[in-house]
Amino acid sequence: MKTVTIVGAGIVGLTSAWRLAQHGWQVTVFDKREAVAEASWAAAGMLAPGGEIDSNTALAKMALHSLSMYPVFVRTLEVESGVTIEYRDCGAVEVAFDDKELSELTAKAARQAVGGIQSEPCRYRDWAARSYPSDATVDPLSINAALLAACRARGVVLREHEPVTEVLPNGSGVRTAEGDFPSDRVLIAAGAWSSTLMPGLPEVHPVRGHLLYFELEPGVLKTIVRNGHTYVFQRESGGVIAGSSMEHVGYDRTVDPAVAEDIHRRAARLVPELAGVKPLDCWNGLRPATDAGPIIGRVGDTNIWTAYGHFRNGILLGPETAQTISDQFGEG
Ligand SMILES: Cc1cc2nc3c(=O)[nH]c(=O)nc-3n(C[C@H](O)[C@H](O)[C@H](O)COP(=O)(O)OP(=O)(O)OC[C@H]3O[C@@H](n4cnc5c(N)ncnc54)[C@H](O)[C@@H]3O)c2cc1C
Repeated sequence: MKTVTIVGAGIVGLTSAWRLAQHGWQVTVFDKREAVAEASWAAAGMLAPGGEIDSNTALAKMALHSLSMYPVFVRTLEVESGVTIEYRDCGAVEVAFDDKELSELTAKAARQAVGGIQSEPCRYRDWAARSYPSDATVDPLSINAALLAACRARGVVLREHEPVTEVLPNGSGVRTAEGDFPSDRVLIAAGAWSSTLMPGLPEVHPVRGHLLYFELEPGVLKTIVRNGHTYVFQRESGGVIAGSSMEHVGYDRTVDPAVAEDIHRRAARLVPELAGVKPLDCWNGLRPATDAGPIIGRVGDTNIWTAYGHFRNGILLGPETAQTISDQFGEG
């Protein structure tokens, strides 16, 4: 049986671990903290090419493919893990607050249509808007719990609180404070830390984003409602997620009350029911950003692969990323 070491137990590392284990690889995943404690824990869970992707790029293709994989991905994962995953095929509405925003929205929709992202004009409350019927949401916490259970069931070994300090030459394993851990291949999936693991990798940097959590009567919001990078949607339980921010503050994850207040103000403009409601929680996470989009594939002709740089869309892109990695790895 061939062996692979994965650095990073976020959604990218764990989805890849699960797929590789299904294909007969013996998988060990190292994380510097407990599993899914970083961006994949913090994420909102929108599966939203319509809201997130502007034009006809390779990323658009990847996002649409991954979105199309989601229903089967969720069902298979539920069966293997025994964990119920909240996946909602709820669509999204992008609001224009004035004529300038409306013409920008219309121009964006034309660019998106070339890449296969469909939308149509609609109204939301008093505003002109565009509806994106294919956008969806998933609860990242349920996906993460299911992935952990499915990985365990497939014999994936998880080594938490054990930072990898170095990738051994040619991907022959990794080094931690405990010593060297040999394997046939290494997959670097360490999110916003990935390029620190070996010299020469395309740089990734953290972009912090905050989210707020409110509670409203279930069913108040039927879709994702957004205006640019401000978005609000509701989970089945009634919990409402509102985001977000784009902050360049390094690896600092201190919650900033001023950012939280700003998100609350923007969210309440979209959903006035939130104006008088106090947020019950606020948190943040570090999106892994690169200049070129996700860096997925083999490093030269070494036994090292990378899967990082998913920026605002790692939950959406997880299934497609794992399929690419497992296709390239073949059977273990
Ligand atoms: C506020 C916010 C909202 C978001 N909303 C959405 C959304 O709605 N939809 C969507 O698709 N995406 C969303 N994202 C983006 C998404 O969260 C990320 O793209 C995705 O989680 C990246 O996953 P990852 O596995 O690459 O990274 P991470 O989840 O950050 O995992 C990387 C892991 O590597 C570990 N690690 C790092 N260094 C080492 C080391 N040396 N040794 C061992 N382990 C190491 C870390 O501890 C971490 O567990 C959001 C992000 C934020 C912050």
